[in-house]
Amino acid sequence: MLPNHSPWIKQLKRTRPVVPLDKDVSSDVVIVGGGIAGVTTAFFTLRDTDKTVILIEANKIAHGATGHNAGQIASYFERPLSDLVEKFGVELAIESQRSVESAWILLDQIVVEAKLQTPLYRFTGYAGLSRFDQVILHLKNNRYRTDHGLIPESIILADHWDELVDIPKEFKDLYSLATQKDILQLLETNNIDYIACLSYQKGCMNSALFSEELIGYLIATYKDRLAFYEGSPVTVVRLKDSKVLLEVSTHTIEAKRVVLCTNGFENFSIINEVGVEIDTKFHHSVNGRIGYMSGYIEPLNNPPAAISYFPEINQRNADPTGENYFYLTRRPHEHEGKDSYNLVCTGGPEKVLPNGADYSSQDPYSEDARFLIDEFMRSNYDKKPGETEYSFQWHGLMGYTPNGIRLVGPEPCNPTLLYNLGCNGVGILPSIFGGIRISRFLNNEHVERSIFDPQDQRREI
Ligand SMILES: Cc1cc2nc3c(=O)[nH]c(=O)nc-3n(C[C@H](O)[C@H](O)[C@H](O)COP(=O)(O)OP(=O)(O)OC[C@H]3O[C@@H](n4cnc5c(N)ncnc54)[C@H](O)[C@@H]3O)c2cc1C
Repeated sequence: MLPNHSPWIKQLKRTRPVVPLDKDVSSDVVIVGGGIAGVTTAFFTLRDTDKTVILIEANKIAHGATGHNAGQIASYFERPLSDLVEKFGVELAIESQRSVESAWILLDQIVVEAKLQTPLYRFTGYAGLSRFDQVILHLKNNRYRTDHGLIPESIILADHWDELVDIPKEFKDLYSLATQKDILQLLETNNIDYIACLSYQKGCMNSALFSEELIGYLIATYKDRLAFYEGSPVTVVRLKDSKVLLEVSTHTIEAKRVVLCTNGFENFSIINEVGVEIDTKFHHSVNGRIGYMSGYIEPLNNPPAAISYFPEINQRNADPTGENYFYLTRRPHEHEGKDSYNLVCTGGPEKVLPNGADYSSQDPYSEDARFLIDEFMRSNYDKKPGETEYSFQWHGLMGYTPNGIRLVGPEPCNPTLLYNLGCNGVGILPSIFGGIRISRFLNNEHVERSIFDPQDQRREI
């Protein structure tokens, strides 16, 4: 059985001891969860408000999804823009896309203000499409992008493709043509199923190292306003009229507001003492899904990259919130004391975590996932099963919401509780955007309506 071995956790050279909560404490705001969502929410709350903050983490900073992802910085939703337009209307949908893209600037701000050293690579990322319906979907999305002031994705179609003639005239200005050879070169594959290539700004970083460095900065900078505890699982969140009590082992945290940045973890209950029951709704709103990744080392012969592949046939269970795909990232990596290597990571396979079931990062790697990744490597890079020697194989927990949209904002049934969670597969930029949005709610600013607002269950039919 293979253990859960992530390169991002391996790169954390932390020296800070775990300090668990050992007394009753209080603050204006308590943030539960020390992944990138919790740490960036703390950053913006401390920077932009005068609130005192407690950040509490069950395990260690960045050891959840933040330490077990692909580390690809991407600004798309796991649900097509055209779908969001249909569901929420064009204004809110475009604004939500703009918000997630704005997190690139927030990320830069954090890096500069906190003087972080974590490497951040930025480049043009690519995605390969293999079917007519995929191409039409992305053209439709691009139409919304160009018509509403967003930077369009570049779409290149293979000039020999026999379905070119079926593309509606209304999309003619949204793509260009090239030989399939050129397209496959951009996608770094020899799989002739791919007949189109999208490109857009992407990046990659170790989000665990980023979070670890950032918490170090916050501890040093906000000595008087931040208290921080690890190894301290919250078991009960008790909501009262204008305060909240958290149970952590034998101790209690009292605060005016609580922000859940707990991703897909379900191991606590919420008791709303002054209104309708929230706990069941919450646990049904965030479903855990386990994502599997593999990484291998190669010489430093190629630049950093992030490429997604939408295959002709879905190779894993259908995803209700979007299309399934495989992805690859590549970045420089120190190996055996030398910095002349790249780390290439591939991922895609996922498994649904049954509602109420606990996820354990100690669980072994899945044989099914290994098979699917081998199959992806075979069909895209001619690598025979077993030929690639993986230095890392790991899994992590993602939080999926039923509609594929992150939850960011106060709980309508009791606004002492706020959420910044539900990555739906892509969570680095949305977590950061969620962080600044939460700080604005905490500061009692007027915050414009968005598709991220938690829905009021009392108004649902
Ligand atoms: C395999 C995989 C690949 C991914 N690839 C990408 C990618 O390429 N790009 C991208 O943008 N996103 C990706 N994601 C998603 C991204 O990693 C997450 O959205 C991001 O890390 C969000 O972090 P978070 O802080 O919300 O969650 P986490 O990092 O999971 O943090 C939540 C924290 O809450 C803590 N917690 C939970 N319950 C309690 C409790 N009761 N008391 C105290 N603490 C608690 C947990 O211990 C954990 O540390 C991927 C995720 C996975 C799993």
